[in-house]
Amino acid sequence: KPNLENTILRSLNKAQHRAVTSEASTVAILAGPGSGKTHTLTSRVVWLIQHMGYRPSDVIVATFTIKAAREMKERIGKLLGEEVEKKIILGTFHSIARRYLSIYGRHIGLESKFNIADDGDSKAIIQRICKRLDLKVEPSYAKAWISKKKAKGTPPVNAPKSQKNKKQEHPDLARCFAEYQDHLERSNLVDFDDLLVKCVELLRKNPECVSNVQTVLIDEYQDTNGIQYELMKLFAQARERITIVGDPDQSIYGWRSAEVRNLYRLLREYPETEEVSLEENYRSSQYILDISLQVIEEDKNRYKKVLRPVHTKCTQPVLRSLGSTSTEGEWIVSEIKRLGMMFGGMLKNEDVAILLRSASLSRHIESALGKAGVAYQMIGGKKFYERREIKILLDYLRAVHQPDNNDVIARIINVPRRGVGDVTVKSLLEEAEQAKISVWVVLCKHCRGERRASTNIRANMEQRLSSGLLNTIFTLRKKADAITEDGAVTLIDLIDSLLNQLSFKRYLELEYPEEHETRWANVQEFMNLVKDFMRDYSQMNTDELPEIDNVTQTKEDDILGKFLANVSLASDAQRDDGDGDKSSMVTISTIHAAKGLEWPVVFVPSVYVGSIPHSRSEDIEEERRLLYVAMTRAQAMLYLSCPLYGPQGLSNKVELSNFVAPFASKAFAARGPSIDKKVLESVAKILGREAPPEKRVFDNLPSMFSPEDDTFPLSPIDPKNSDGTEENGEQHYARAPKRQRKDTEKC
Ligand code: ATP
Ligand code: MG
Repeated sequence: KPNLENTILRSLNKAQHRAVTSEASTVAILAGPGSGKTHTLTSRVVWLIQHMGYRPSDVIVATFTIKAAREMKERIGKLLGEEVEKKIILGTFHSIARRYLSIYGRHIGLESKFNIADDGDSKAIIQRICKRLDLKVEPSYAKAWISKKKAKGTPPVNAPKSQKNKKQEHPDLARCFAEYQDHLERSNLVDFDDLLVKCVELLRKNPECVSNVQTVLIDEYQDTNGIQYELMKLFAQARERITIVGDPDQSIYGWRSAEVRNLYRLLREYPETEEVSLEENYRSSQYILDISLQVIEEDKNRYKKVLRPVHTKCTQPVLRSLGSTSTEGEWIVSEIKRLGMMFGGMLKNEDVAILLRSASLSRHIESALGKAGVAYQMIGGKKFYERREIKILLDYLRAVHQPDNNDVIARIINVPRRGVGDVTVKSLLEEAEQAKISVWVVLCKHCRGERRASTNIRANMEQRLSSGLLNTIFTLRKKADAITEDGAVTLIDLIDSLLNQLSFKRYLELEYPEEHETRWANVQEFMNLVKDFMRDYSQMNTDELPEIDNVTQTKEDDILGKFLANVSLASDAQRDDGDGDKSSMVTISTIHAAKGLEWPVVFVPSVYVGSIPHSRSEDIEEERRLLYVAMTRAQAMLYLSCPLYGPQGLSNKVELSNFVAPFASKAFAARGPSIDKKVLESVAKILGREAPPEKRVFDNLPSMFSPEDDTFPLSPIDPKNSDGTEENGEQHYARAPKRQRKDTEKC
């Protein structure tokens, strides 16, 4: 048995100690980032089992992500042994609910081996229902609507109209909901939302399923939604012993029906709750904490909390202005490399995270890392070329370039949906195989009326394929042939026409009702990638080839082939790093997925109006909280950056985010810090690592990023406001963009 006094308790401060050992039935720990909430929650689990004698299998711990659950298990395992750790019911709400349903589901008519309907299955079921009953609602909209209702814990029978969206709520929606539910039940299917809904139903009907549960503990409580709140109460119904930890300032899932109100509901429904606040921040340097608090304190309606740093100032956070998003990516890479050299092994790439407001911003960063050979992993999103919408566009371009590629044709034949099923695809492949020609040629033959007598393909299917897929590809091939050197038709025109032919925006709206805007943003980013390629391509023509009078130097008409080859290489580079050594990998993550995590060095790029706050967000304060979450992930070094122009280039001038603009001149340094012995030591102290021996310390390496490559909307030194230097020789931003750079055309 571990000696708790010497292990966990000794490392806790007073308030944490009180929370861990509290005998109150309900404990609420409300505190800011890095104050050790998760640490305290884990310690309480250990305390309850070890000291209070709770049986591990009677303890439920709900975390927000699978990654967080894994980390918690690891820590408990270390302290109590793997065997005990395995018995604890620890996971996300969904995984805990699935477990109860597979054990007790038959009490509510579920077979123990129920199937989980994934997103695609649900969509198909709803589509069939809408068609069969001739419902006047868009199937994908109905799906999103049903999911929202379920998250709120509303049963299908009396799903009421919400006041907000009264106009859109057609009566057929409720009917579709009821029919869909009926179908799932008859087929013994459970969709993702239903895992929670059904578990609520089970536990209401059969409270004995959880009669053994002695206590329930929940991390990241501020982001629970209505149905999760219900579940928490039901899990705890036998003893009503609940511990929650959370921070209203970090509630960032309002868009997914999370309700901060659940916090006040808990305090109301469990009036005996002991509230504990933790006031020391153990994660970040004083500078990082100060500036993060300045950002969040602008939200005047928030509930104020005390949060004091335990660490020293360390280096001042940097706010860097750059000419374009590509120079922003290059700057980040150069700074990562500089840190790697300066810290001589104390900081590895795995210590660095680049946190993005939207996944679509990752392309420039990925490309800069790729070019510099820096491996990276992505959490909370797919790498750019692995995203569905990008794959579809690339497949179409591949088909235009080389239609004899059967795999590509098979992938796009029913995208967007043309009613072409697997059976048709199989017959086409067989026909092609027998005649030893490509599927494309088989399709062309069919559509010219040269059908084989033995074919299984019906005439109306031929019609559909001819007017859909074939027409599209033929039109685009004509366009591709017309890409001429004088630029009358360009690659961009080709892709524009592809998007039109496919009605791609509409397609994304229908297929991805909840995330079509993000996906469309990726498509826009794809267009930017094409533009970049075209610029590089034209530069290459003039720069690298000798000039010979009257001779055409490159065959412009193969630009599509070159572009596709370029993309294949870039996406291959992305794939390769999958199995690599994790310690050499930088992390790219969305801010949402970075919740609860921490890194020694954090970059938050593209801090401009439209990105954060996001142009499509309806809740400006949630955007501020997002930036706060991002900044408070950093332990020792924090870098924010803002390009002068957004992803669309010169036509897309952007402004520094209003969340940081008020402090830009005072609180941030304009450039990366000088790294001297003092800095090395304070970083080592924050991270609890050993500073490199003195002989490892090089003379300060200046940033390898040429100052010629960046542009300043804010001039770095203004003698009236500041003397331009701080303790570490850092510079401050001043206000006015007085200086017009010569090299803006570089952007
Ligand atoms: P977030 O709100 O971001 O989820 P949190 O409040 O859950 O943050 P933790 O992740 O638990 O904070 O802790 C932040 C860091 O502080 C961790 O590295 C943790 O190990 C450390 N820490 C927590 N409490 C103490 C303590 N009493 N002494 C030293 N380090 C601590
Ligand atoms: Mg936490």
